[in-house]
Amino acid sequence: MSQEKSLRALSCADDYDPDSMPVDRARELIRTFLAPVTATERVHIRAALGRVLAADVVSPLAVPGHDNSAMDGYAVRYADLASGSETTLMRVGESFAGKPSGATVGPDQCVRIFTGAVMPQGADTVVMQERASEDAGRVRVAAGAVTKEGQNRRFAGEDLKAGQLVFRAGQLVHPAELGMMASLGIGEVTVFRKLRVAFFSTGDELKSIGTELAAGEIYDSNRYTIHGMLTRLSCDVLDMGVVPDVPEQLERAFADAAAAADVVITSGGVSVGEADFVKQLLDKLGEVVFWKIAMKPGRPLAYGRIGDAHFFGLPGNPVSVMVTFYEFVQDALRVLQGRREVVPLPMFKVPLSAPIRKVPGRTEFQRGILAADGNGGFTVRTTGDQGSGILSSMSQANCFIVLSAETGNCAVGDLVGVQLLEGLI
Ligand code: AMP
Ligand code: MG
Repeated sequence: MSQEKSLRALSCADDYDPDSMPVDRARELIRTFLAPVTATERVHIRAALGRVLAADVVSPLAVPGHDNSAMDGYAVRYADLASGSETTLMRVGESFAGKPSGATVGPDQCVRIFTGAVMPQGADTVVMQERASEDAGRVRVAAGAVTKEGQNRRFAGEDLKAGQLVFRAGQLVHPAELGMMASLGIGEVTVFRKLRVAFFSTGDELKSIGTELAAGEIYDSNRYTIHGMLTRLSCDVLDMGVVPDVPEQLERAFADAAAAADVVITSGGVSVGEADFVKQLLDKLGEVVFWKIAMKPGRPLAYGRIGDAHFFGLPGNPVSVMVTFYEFVQDALRVLQGRREVVPLPMFKVPLSAPIRKVPGRTEFQRGILAADGNGGFTVRTTGDQGSGILSSMSQANCFIVLSAETGNCAVGDLVGVQLLEGLI
């Protein structure tokens, strides 16, 4: 089926009522239209943070390169240690990190060794220094100082083996990957090029910061939240400002954005009443479907293509913008960036510390505060008023409380789904 046909199919012929598209279904449908970027560039590993590897990384060497000590202590032969009593060994050398000892450890001998230092010939085990004492080259090892051969010894290649596949193309680079590449001596990597994302806000009432507000006007905040969310996803952003609800200006803005970017994101102008007007425009410029998603906030959402660009028409309300971005746009961008595995935000169950009122029918993404319960566990409650214009709720929240379409009112102690807004990596 051609893309054009299938996009049309999305808006009408489906098992689902297009006026009320379930969240998961909308995600699945969007996914079927996403083809990752293919162009690549070479960057220094520092600049690779947040980018997606475009080629496999194979280890050119073993890490660590040599057997070495995990402790400060004495490198010994396990077989020399008496099982139930103290053992005395003669010290025959010293091995520092970066300065190996030339000595070979023979029977009843040992080498003073420090963390990260190469294991000397003949030794197989390290006794930690707290379990030994030294006097004039004679080292007394306490009974039971080690319990098995090889203790406190790190083995060559135990982290990475030479020739091993370390990362596959499609891997997102986090700080751990930067460190691993550095440990392999790799200074440059091939990553997919950045996605270019253009965005603008629509609405006659919107003013940009730095200008005076007339009666009834408001400052445009969506361009700033969108700028922030895109920047954290390592996209090249193209902020096209505010476009008033004037057909000619909107048409030009849509066309310019699509010509300049891989993805176009707008906010506002897709709610009932406004949609018809924007819809006509977009029908002319591309293939766009308008969905009423069965979710709260974020009910109206447009998705499709304008020219070669993907298009996401987000609702205007500031909270709806963020919720729809995190629930639909973010994963789509990750796929387009070349990520190999894109899985939805993890969700776990946490008991409520305050009741929630909800009417069944739509999936709700309430802004939540996850807090320690004082007993080693966690509880969650909402931030309070859940109006889709109350952007302070997003700032106060550290999670979404995700309530499925079927869920109704929830009581204290009920387990609810929680998605963390902030992650460690
Ligand atoms: P709309 O979807 O255009 O009907 O907008 C819904 C609500 O969101 C209205 O109250 C708008 O004033 C508000 N809104 C739309 N765009 C923005 C924006 N960029 N920044 C802040 N509020 C907005
Ligand atoms: Mg509007």
